[in-house]
Amino acid sequence: MKLAIVGCGLAVRWLHLPALEKLNDQYRVTALLSRTRKSAEGVARLLPNDPIIFESLEGLLAEGDFDAVLLSLPTEHNLFYIETFLARNIPVICEKPIALNTAQGKDILSIVEKYGNLLYIAENYRHMPQLHTAKELIDAGSIGAPKVMVWSQWGCVQPDEGYGATEWRANPKHVGGYLSDGGVHHMAGIRFLMGEVFAIKGYGFQQLAHTGSVDTYSATLEFESGAIGSYFGTYGLTGGGDLCMVRGTQGYLTIENEKVTVYTGVQGEFSKVYAVEPSMGYYEEFLDFFHFCEGRDSLLGSPAAALEDLRAIERMVTSFSQ
Ligand code: NAP
Repeated sequence: MKLAIVGCGLAVRWLHLPALEKLNDQYRVTALLSRTRKSAEGVARLLPNDPIIFESLEGLLAEGDFDAVLLSLPTEHNLFYIETFLARNIPVICEKPIALNTAQGKDILSIVEKYGNLLYIAENYRHMPQLHTAKELIDAGSIGAPKVMVWSQWGCVQPDEGYGATEWRANPKHVGGYLSDGGVHHMAGIRFLMGEVFAIKGYGFQQLAHTGSVDTYSATLEFESGAIGSYFGTYGLTGGGDLCMVRGTQGYLTIENEKVTVYTGVQGEFSKVYAVEPSMGYYEEFLDFFHFCEGRDSLLGSPAAALEDLRAIERMVTSFSQ
């Protein structure tokens, strides 16, 4: 499949190209477009072939030779580019979050309805093998009915390097800044394990000036199943260690990096470890998108699912001040 890339920034260099390299039987990057030629040239240098670098969208549309497009842009541009390519019947894989906010996400779903199911949202958490293993264990009844979930994530964004140095994150237009940029990943994982969120209420504060919004928060969730959960996240503090735990009626499980452990017995004295092939899910999502372009349905890349992730985060963010 000939792939055009629009937006040649960090995610493309750090996350997408390594996955595409492993999928070189499936993909060849043939066209690049970025705001600056310099970024596109930087990506071109990392590719084995010589993709054509375009200076404008019009040029790409008129002369580009590609079957599908990867959008890896500041979120505010998603809607325009998605409509541009879907209107031309070109399949799109677009980075999360789907939109700046829920209202704009609904507009994107209307575009999909109008032009056809050609949009795939790249939410790598939905492809992570450790979450799939945990979900299979839950569905198989290994911990009984899920009752309580705890998810916590620590991290500190540096002002002058990596994601922290991108201007669009420091002055976010996307709801809650890092909370929707990064938080949709966690919400995808939480929803994948626990099902739909019925209610969510949180508290938060801004720890670091350069994160541009509240960056540290704690929320309580109730799921449609009746289970409850606690979700803590920070982009402004280190410490603690990351944790994902689901407690069921007959035991609990934890997810740590590439390891899922099931604990049973009255005090959790019996444990069984399920080792998982290490992956952040980028390889799996691009492979899934390849099959999607061949006509296979994908729930994992579903725009509606991505919108639900964003909607839950937005509900959390708007609850802070209430
Ligand atoms: P970034 O480094 O700022 O890259 C964005 C790129 O978009 C830049 O290269 C920029 O061009 C280009 N750009 C901006 N406006 C444009 C326009 N109007 N037309 C064409 N290109 C334009 O940001 P990033 O960290 O790569 O993030 C990109 C996307 O990936 C975001 O949606 C983000 O949420 C997502 N992401 C996902 C993950 C994940 O784990 N799944 C991780 C990180 C990011 P120039 O460089 O030429 O100025």
